[in-house]
Amino acid sequence: MPMKADVLICGAGIAGISTAYHLSVRRGVTDIILVDERPPLTLTSDKSTECYRNWWPDPDGSMVAFMNRSIDLMEELARESGNIFRMNRRGYLFATASKHKAETFREAAEEAERLGAGPLRVHDGIDSTYRYSAEEAEEFDAPISGADLLLGREVIEAHFPYISKRAVAAIHPRRAGWLSAQQMGMYMLEQARGHGVRFVSGRVESVETNGGRISGVSVSKRGETLRISTPNFVNAAGPFVEHVGRLLDVSLPVFTELHMKVILNDYLGIVPRDAPLLIWSDPQYLPWSEDEKSFFADSEETRWLLDEFPGGVHTRPEGGPGSNMILILWDYRNRVMDPVPDPPLDPLYAEIAIRGLSALLPGMRAYFEKMPKPILDGGYYVKTEENRPLIGPMPVEGSYVVGALSGYGIMGANAAGDLIARYVCGENLPSYARSFSLERYRDPGYREILRKLEEESWEL
Ligand SMILES: Cc1cc2nc3c(=O)[nH]c(=O)nc-3n(C[C@H](O)[C@H](O)[C@H](O)COP(=O)(O)OP(=O)(O)OC[C@H]3O[C@@H](n4cnc5c(N)ncnc54)[C@H](O)[C@@H]3O)c2cc1C
Repeated sequence: MPMKADVLICGAGIAGISTAYHLSVRRGVTDIILVDERPPLTLTSDKSTECYRNWWPDPDGSMVAFMNRSIDLMEELARESGNIFRMNRRGYLFATASKHKAETFREAAEEAERLGAGPLRVHDGIDSTYRYSAEEAEEFDAPISGADLLLGREVIEAHFPYISKRAVAAIHPRRAGWLSAQQMGMYMLEQARGHGVRFVSGRVESVETNGGRISGVSVSKRGETLRISTPNFVNAAGPFVEHVGRLLDVSLPVFTELHMKVILNDYLGIVPRDAPLLIWSDPQYLPWSEDEKSFFADSEETRWLLDEFPGGVHTRPEGGPGSNMILILWDYRNRVMDPVPDPPLDPLYAEIAIRGLSALLPGMRAYFEKMPKPILDGGYYVKTEENRPLIGPMPVEGSYVVGALSGYGIMGANAAGDLIARYVCGENLPSYARSFSLERYRDPGYREILRKLEEESWEL
């Protein structure tokens, strides 16, 4: 018998699973097929640092509203599941050695406050009311939001003695932290399956239309072709979103960028287990020895190691009690490239990341001579030119896209799935819907937003 579904979703990464969840569990659309050629959550969604934040200073507040909605939904899931995915609220701590950057922190925090990310509290001196307790921050809904701006060495040292003495300011957005993306995704998938969603293992090869609207999808499965008739098709193909768009002759304005991360056994305990996500905001030159410098200077291939590196190297502890693992990320050399299944990983990444991190955590220098064995992995950020997602209808009636989730697809997945479900079910749309639709690029007023976005960058 030919298969049929009310909605077919291509891609069982976090975006596709969230869409299936919000349609089925939250709205009762139960005849849904989720198709993936890989096991769920195994292409990009298991490569992330799994962090979240509502700290998104941007020109019109769309990203703050979107992330606040997503975090609300994640908190609902954490509450109902007994926090099965261990969501915490430790926050992100950005530090700088530059007084000028401290002002940028303040401006960004004022902007974030204006956009709805919560109040800014400024702490200048040791007697401040600033508090950070990891125990408290272990609660996903700890009653703290907004951001704390720490000014001066004393207040930073009092709370984070392990941070470089060069740091003169730090900003600590508080509705932020991390979680297990795998466990959140699997929880949502199980709930969706419990509400009738079927998973089909196979590859979407073509999408058919009839009279200008979606009529069916062909899926190849172990040499066979399955034809599934459906009036609704959701493209949640992650790095292949552009490719899948082309099956409908739709060109999606995205590109893919390879990003890496390293996992290390921090056997000396340089990153305290109760730390927030720690970020060094300043550009820097890597601390090489004189011998290393002259060796690198000799060759065209290695000379770049002596160039200035960008700000943004970051780390966090990973794992529960007894774990010494840390994650380190540093987007110092992002490669725009077409996605390939096993991306080429930079063999120098771990060494560079440890050296870069020593600007923030001088204790990391202990690893220069004897580096712990690194575990490297990587995946693709799918991005639009202004780094906002693409969520909404595609030009063929009955087709939708949920993609370009860049480096924020875990934190944004719930609001993204919720938004697609609203489109499919014809519900009212939230304020940010227009800013993420494919249509936005046709709006002349949107050019102004694009210009402002180019001037601001809080990418992480
Ligand atoms: C190093 C790194 C760090 C990150 N850190 C964070 C972070 O801290 N916080 C955060 O929120 N986000 C983070 N991200 C981003 C986040 O991981 C992604 O935005 C998110 O996982 C994207 O999910 P997705 O479902 O769109 O894509 P994917 O997880 O890639 O899923 C897409 C799925 O579509 C399937 N597919 C594609 N084409 C077809 C086809 N034709 N037929 C069948 N199936 C198909 C694929 O097999 C795949 O399973 C990070 C990403 C990376 C790489």
